[in-house]
Amino acid sequence: MSNCRAWQSVPRLPYLIRGRVVRGFRRGGTDLGFPTANYPEEVVEKLPSELNTGVYCGWASVDNGDVQKMVLSLGWNPYYKNEKKSMETHIMHQFKDDFYGSILSIVILAYIRPEKSFSSLDELISAIKGDIADADRILDQPENKIFIQDNFFKGDASL
Ligand code: ADP
Ligand code: MG
Repeated sequence: MSNCRAWQSVPRLPYLIRGRVVRGFRRGGTDLGFPTANYPEEVVEKLPSELNTGVYCGWASVDNGDVQKMVLSLGWNPYYKNEKKSMETHIMHQFKDDFYGSILSIVILAYIRPEKSFSSLDELISAIKGDIADADRILDQPENKIFIQDNFFKGDASL
């Protein structure tokens, strides 16, 4: 019988991140219809190592633009033999153009599910749609909505 107990396996959310959008390897936009903005390696390396891989949701803003809902995937990157993590943000908003080189500010608020592998593209696409529906519902909760007004999203989004 143990006399201590761990209450938290991941650091307390929310987690706030700001970084430049770089090109990734995957072509999420073209293949899946869900483009994901990638952060550079340095940003991912600074994450607490105990932050579990999987799908999260929260809020995002590109440069000083409007705050939008987002789903984020934190996963082991097969291009680096699964030794490095990648963090990719799909913003639930239709943008006119790409925004490579822009500053992406995100607030990670909730964990949706662990990382999974899918046997078909259709399965992956329906999982992403499910994640987006979950994110939509979670972020509409008043305690999560207040982050739209957070000072983090106000003012100059420089690094
Ligand atoms: P990459 O492998 O370079 O990340 P993607 O196909 O995943 O390519 O597309 C990501 C890029 O698409 C982003 O870096 C951004 O410039 C652009 N983009 C356009 N709309 C969105 C969106 N709603 N969410 C995320 N990225 C978007
Ligand atoms: Mg991407």
